Amino acid sequence: MISFLSLKDITATYNDEIHRAIRRVVDSGWYLQGEENAAFEHNYAEYIGTKHCVGVANGLDALIWILRAYKELGVMQDGDEVIVPANTYIASILAITENNLVPVLVEPGYETLEIDDALIESKISSKTKAIMVVHLYGRCAYTKKIGELCEKYHLKLIEDNAQAHGCRFDERRTGSLGDAAGHSFYPGKNLGALGDGGAVTTNDSELVECIRSLANYGSTKKYVFKYCGRNSRLDEIQAAVLNVKLHHLDEDNRLRQQVAAYYYNQINNPLVSLPKRIPDNNNVYHLFPILCKHRDELQRHLTDNGVQTLIHYPIPSHKQECYLKNGLKLSSDPLPITEVLANTELSIPMSPCLNMEDLQYIVRVINLF
Ligand SMILES: *Cc1c(COP(=O)(O)O)cnc(C)c1O
Repeated sequence: MISFLSLKDITATYNDEIHRAIRRVVDSGWYLQGEENAAFEHNYAEYIGTKHCVGVANGLDALIWILRAYKELGVMQDGDEVIVPANTYIASILAITENNLVPVLVEPGYETLEIDDALIESKISSKTKAIMVVHLYGRCAYTKKIGELCEKYHLKLIEDNAQAHGCRFDERRTGSLGDAAGHSFYPGKNLGALGDGGAVTTNDSELVECIRSLANYGSTKKYVFKYCGRNSRLDEIQAAVLNVKLHHLDEDNRLRQQVAAYYYNQINNPLVSLPKRIPDNNNVYHLFPILCKHRDELQRHLTDNGVQTLIHYPIPSHKQECYLKNGLKLSSDPLPITEVLANTELSIPMSPCLNMEDLQYIVRVINLF
């Protein structure tokens, strides 16, 4: 069986370094808000190219804190609107609804699978306060046009960079393109911890101070509470692991790009289509989505032949029970592309650890379908 993603193999690549880092934390006797976290925040801000980074408990919290901080700072209020792609992982949208803000869903382009920038302007209203771009599947979703819209309408640009650590737009990295970015270090992401983790990057020092406080019970100094916050911290062991893995991120992404190049060159089944290829600089291939009208049969065929696949994502957010049962209609417009993608997308194995033999086998099985 070729697994969709073997975290065991990825961790084994850096086994000694990771064990040394964990041991260092264990032996130090200091497990929260210490040197590892400070070092990671410094290193990651430098890597992304922002002035600030704050480590938090997970990627969902990172996005929640960005919006919550904008509310605390008076930039947004209950009922304001945030534009977001309809075909994202639900966390992007949960961060908006959790803050009593209103997600305004925009369809992706069928060729890119990223938010269609031509459809954004007509969705902007007097209540719109931000555009949240999601660099889905590891592709840069930001475009110059999105930047121009944010300027024209004075909107905050928030990036959901959970799937695109290391990706670029021109020379700048995703996570530094807008006003603030949320990052997830869920184990399966390109930069993955050995548990949960997340971060916010930004150049806005007021915002970062607010988030630092919100994620630490809302305290500004010990036992003084300015906000009703929560406990949402990145722990020292995860920060130490991330410090190790950050050194290898560019190399890991390069290996992912090699896997993708192989897929692009070798998959030739007419029943399968691939997203339009963009330069490697702009895609770190968190996932490799393929599209097929007979997706469920293709998935079964791959499973029967020992290749594990996943669907990202089978039910779009606007059709999820959590919203429907509360009578919350996420979109008054139909979302046909999002729904077609939910029915045709299939993610095939993607990892820096796939070897040539695996790749040849995976492609052979796909082309035989
Ligand atoms: C993984 C993910 C998140 C959430 O990150 P967690 O660390 O799992 O909370 C948010 N947005 C997208 C697009 C993701 O893929």
